[in-house]
Amino acid sequence: MLIATKFGGSSLADAKQFQRVREIIEGSHERQFVVPSAPGRRFAGDDKITDLLYACYALQKAGADFGEPFARIRERYMDIERELGLDCGMERELAVVERAIKNGASEDYAASRGEYLCGLLLAAYLKFAFVDANELICFHEDGTYDDATTQLWASCLEGRRGVVVPGFYGRRRDGAIKTFSRGGSDITGAIVARAVRADIYENWTDVSGFMMADPRIVENPHVISSVTYSELRELSYMGATVLHEDSIFPVRKAKIPIQVRNTNAPKALGTMVIPDAQYVPTGRACPLTGIAGRRGFTILTVNKDNMHKEVGFGYRLLRVLHRNNISFENAPSGIDTMSVIIDDAHLIGKLDTVIEQIKRDCDVQQIEVSSGIALIATVGKGMARRLGVSATLFSALCAAGVNVRVIDQGSSEMNIIVGINETDFEVALRAIYAAFEGFGTDDTLACKA
Ligand code: ASP
Repeated sequence: MLIATKFGGSSLADAKQFQRVREIIEGSHERQFVVPSAPGRRFAGDDKITDLLYACYALQKAGADFGEPFARIRERYMDIERELGLDCGMERELAVVERAIKNGASEDYAASRGEYLCGLLLAAYLKFAFVDANELICFHEDGTYDDATTQLWASCLEGRRGVVVPGFYGRRRDGAIKTFSRGGSDITGAIVARAVRADIYENWTDVSGFMMADPRIVENPHVISSVTYSELRELSYMGATVLHEDSIFPVRKAKIPIQVRNTNAPKALGTMVIPDAQYVPTGRACPLTGIAGRRGFTILTVNKDNMHKEVGFGYRLLRVLHRNNISFENAPSGIDTMSVIIDDAHLIGKLDTVIEQIKRDCDVQQIEVSSGIALIATVGKGMARRLGVSATLFSALCAAGVNVRVIDQGSSEMNIIVGINETDFEVALRAIYAAFEGFGTDDTLACKA
């Protein structure tokens, strides 16, 4: 068995955290590949190294002195090197980075150095080889990620053991350093896991896996013990965030499970993200995997008698959105009405034009605009063909006094989305969670955060 690991910034925030990481790595000889983020916050209000590096770049670009934030970066790395009793040339490496930023290095170069320096330290500490991510990960000239070339480059890892690869960046073919978007070390971890054909991709962070609901809203929610890739996609799309969304695709394709674990509670098994094909219906007590939601949607409802008989009506309606470069989330429809649910961000400055064009192209008299809508997705493969799931969901909302504005049940029967007023958002989330908790304990619910 072979395990590729990725450690987030809080897992490497200081020397003490490095020690924990080493204990984890040494705890299993199967953990042979390690992808670190840059050191993150040690305490609330502390700086993340990546933020400090962006600040240095911005100051330099504005012609100002970046000595102050760079001194803080230097101190963090030097402290770690000293406290771990290492001598891996941090002083010299930091001087190279400082000079490069002074000489006008790019923003991506500056930001990437957090992971680069952290990788050097970690490799020295674990006595692993350091392989620079710019030898493995390729970006196109336009800055988009080049997966085909990366697969070729990264194949050089196959068969190797004991390797650290810094997260978050790679390079374009012309040699320029390019980063992924923020949080992108998750993607590097997935790329490495695929390249070495790992059996598991362990993603070590500061929480014990995914919670069934947002812990800022629902008190002490249970940890999800296992979730399929498609359930996770639905949940993260609706706002649940632990893993970088794009980080899924390299391992998903390769059917490698991801285990999300907590560096500060390494005994907890966290959450296992499994390929859909490995999902086995257990008939377990709780049919739910998780609940997530987002505010900030608008529903456009178009009424027209006998709309369902009119060939091309939906096409003409959606064509208006296309023409205005607007995507839609869901489109529930009835015999005389069709609604489209749109993220408010896409409608800014366009609503009046869209209404006018729908009236003209679809020949409708009435369009209703409801803004201030929140969507909540109740997700679980276990819902399919289970009696009473919708009844439980809607009874809970009714008992909590929440009026449901739209309902959409995906054809996969793994997701029920309700649209409600934003003002009911928190009440609704809590009500749904509490209702399903009543389904009784099982392997999911037994695993408390
Ligand atoms: N250090 C980068 C960030 O803060 C990338 C990462 O942590 O994954 O976004």
